[in-house]
Amino acid sequence: MDFEMTTEQLAMQKTAREYAEKEVAPVAAEYDEKEEMPVDLVRRMVAEGFSSVSVPEEYGGAGMDEITVCLVTEELGRGCAGIATGVGANSLAMLPIQLAGSEEQKIKYLTELCEGKLASFCLTEPNAGSDVSSISTTAIKDGSEYVINGTKCFITNGTYADYYVVFAVTDPQRGARSLTPFIVERDRPGIDASRSEKKLGIRASNTAVVVFDQVRIPEDNLLGKPCGGFRVAMETFDISRPMIASLAVGLARAAYEAAAKYARERVQFGKPIIQQQAIQFMLADMAMEIEAARSLVLFTAGRVGKGQRNLSAYSAMAKGYAGDMAMRVTVDALQVLGGYGYTREYPLEKYMRDAKIMQIYEGTSQVQRLVIANNIINGRI
Ligand SMILES: Cc1cc2nc3c(=O)[nH]c(=O)nc-3n(C[C@H](O)[C@H](O)[C@H](O)COP(=O)(O)OP(=O)(O)OC[C@H]3O[C@@H](n4cnc5c(N)ncnc54)[C@H](O)[C@@H]3O)c2cc1C
Repeated sequence: MDFEMTTEQLAMQKTAREYAEKEVAPVAAEYDEKEEMPVDLVRRMVAEGFSSVSVPEEYGGAGMDEITVCLVTEELGRGCAGIATGVGANSLAMLPIQLAGSEEQKIKYLTELCEGKLASFCLTEPNAGSDVSSISTTAIKDGSEYVINGTKCFITNGTYADYYVVFAVTDPQRGARSLTPFIVERDRPGIDASRSEKKLGIRASNTAVVVFDQVRIPEDNLLGKPCGGFRVAMETFDISRPMIASLAVGLARAAYEAAAKYARERVQFGKPIIQQQAIQFMLADMAMEIEAARSLVLFTAGRVGKGQRNLSAYSAMAKGYAGDMAMRVTVDALQVLGGYGYTREYPLEKYMRDAKIMQIYEGTSQVQRLVIANNIINGRI
């Protein structure tokens, strides 16, 4: 694969880098400390197009490819993984609409979501995390409406979303085989999103429990065909996992850059610590792993939309590798700063806390290995 970037891709990357350095990084520590999502900033970033890079232009997006999405996301992740998660959650929620929505739905919802409205992707439930087939939220047909009942948890942007993309079973007897995605407007009676989680990291993002109690929606809010939800969810992950992987690359890069800078400046035993081979080797490992992850991410992003049956395997490899890499790199980067890295005077402890989620959301590191292993068993890779 050719990694030479086009002029347009480089321009988008530069725009995202400058925006992240000017608007995102300077407020990252403040919102992390406050454990609060900067809602206005995230909405502004959505309206500026950072969550709709690959949405077709006719619906308000930039119409670029997934490689560009990853280049942009890496820059935002370098600025703040929490804020980038809020922006990325909008992209995630738009994918089922892009994959399964009718033309009318795309025009209505994608356009609004490109203009600054927020949406949440609601799949996970208290008893259905890695095991999506255990979803118990129901959407039961009643005349020309569906009635939704159930609880979704760990929902990014859940408190502030204008729309929810909700996966629910339409026939409890058939369980996950009847899984179906729906668009649910925030202001429908019966929705409670008042409880949000206190978290280890990505504290500048919002993670909420969203309860649907007898929520009525018109049948027109169904995305795609009834019972097509499992496939839509899995195809969504095939596209979103490289994006999350690039967020992990950006976060690791921020940690590595801070560690390298500090190592040049910090003098112990009469010379900068970067002259110690132990420090050099840690930095070399970080640089090597970040480049390896980025190459895999961009290689995978380049395969999106090409109709290859093993895309799931590559997306899982990119997410699994980059998530684990970000954890290793941020731990070592903190080590380079010694005691100072452990304090909030430097952002290294935040990077390390933020990195942990990269091994959990969008499928845990173990789930990525399950997906890869299934592709090996099926002979696809
Ligand atoms: C901050 C945050 C934001 C999130 N945002 C969203 C969102 O916007 N929308 C959404 O729908 N979800 C979201 N999630 C949910 C996330 O995707 C799930 O937490 C994740 O899929 C894991 O599910 P779980 O937490 O129930 O863990 P479990 O599935 O209970 O897993 C627990 C442990 O068991 C392991 N495990 C489980 N099954 C297997 C197996 N078969 N083989 C080997 N190991 C296994 C897991 O790897 C993990 O280590 C978010 C989560 C967090 C924490």
